[in-house]
Amino acid sequence: MSDASLYIKNANIHMEEKTIENGGVMLEHGKITKIFVEGEKPASYPSRFKIIDGQGMHLLPGFLDGHIHGANGADVMDATEEALDTMASVLPAEGTTSFLATTITQSPENIAKALENVANYKNKDGQAEIVGVHLEGPFIEPSKKGAQPLKYIMEPNIATFDAWQKLSRNMIKTITMAPEHDPDGKFISHLAGKGINVSAGHTSANFADMKKAVSQGVRQVTHLCNAMSGIHHRDIGVVGAAFQLEELRAELIADGIHISPEMLQIIYNNVGSERLILITDAMRAKCMSPGDYELGGQPVKVTEDRAVLDDGTLAGSILKLIQGAQQMLRLDKVSIADVIEMAAVNPAKQIGVFDRKGSIAVGKDADVLLVDDKLNIHYTICRGTIAYEGGKN
Ligand SMILES: [Zn+2]
Repeated sequence: MSDASLYIKNANIHMEEKTIENGGVMLEHGKITKIFVEGEKPASYPSRFKIIDGQGMHLLPGFLDGHIHGANGADVMDATEEALDTMASVLPAEGTTSFLATTITQSPENIAKALENVANYKNKDGQAEIVGVHLEGPFIEPSKKGAQPLKYIMEPNIATFDAWQKLSRNMIKTITMAPEHDPDGKFISHLAGKGINVSAGHTSANFADMKKAVSQGVRQVTHLCNAMSGIHHRDIGVVGAAFQLEELRAELIADGIHISPEMLQIIYNNVGSERLILITDAMRAKCMSPGDYELGGQPVKVTEDRAVLDDGTLAGSILKLIQGAQQMLRLDKVSIADVIEMAAVNPAKQIGVFDRKGSIAVGKDADVLLVDDKLNIHYTICRGTIAYEGGKN
């Protein structure tokens, strides 16, 4: 935990229910310890305090990326401490202060190694925090595999999941699976009973399957519109389920490529900020030059704006979460408060860490971003330590 103490003044403090104009926050021992309303200020500053002048900019809760495979050359499946360090140290530059280390469909041995590695990982000061694992696959529908390698796809298996969860020391918070492969709902109910965020993804479920899955405990949809049954006028599929069923929140890759800006607007208008979760689904080439990379053991070509397999299938993204937030802010009717809901509040609530993450409140972790009106990041603070200082990105 950080011993540094920070006082941020002259900022618009975006709290959950209100925004304090020209307010201040005190960050001590990694936590938010006091919030000052306009005109108020600390009686004195001990010498160890560093003061940041917010210059009328916005102070936001740090973002939580609930679906990210890699960045800056590293991937969770590398199963090394160094790979997780690389990700945790580069992500604050895009506003991410915590994330779920996300696995991909692979051999059971490789998944086990990645989980064990996360379980042994110790979060470090001045870096984003790994708050858990998102197990993407291997219990998915082959025809909707996207960039998940076909040969390792398995049928849902409670014993396998339990063994992995034990290995991860209960770090698995979210699982992406195909509900139609669990027709009696036993697997879903088992996971839901353990408090796992069960997310339907890489699935060809129809609307009736989704209604049933929700009654069994599915609460999320993985990268809405990608690798799932779309809206048909006789069966509205998984996409329609995300629109219609209030129990579901939906992940969104808002890079304008996985989903067009027009579709992002349609989704926003119909689902609303309270049920959307911005993610990156980024792979290792993020923050790197275009070139040849890999995902799940498969070759991936990366250009300026996207990552694709040999057959053209999108292979994760190279999106930075702040770019997704900026893309959403450019839509009609989206405010900074809405972006905060989609990138911080909802992802924290969805995996049960809202008691310490996801909003600016006394007692919560000091994960905050100082940004201008266009969401350019000037400071990212992770648990009370300055993790990134920049002008524009
Ligand atoms: Zn996926």
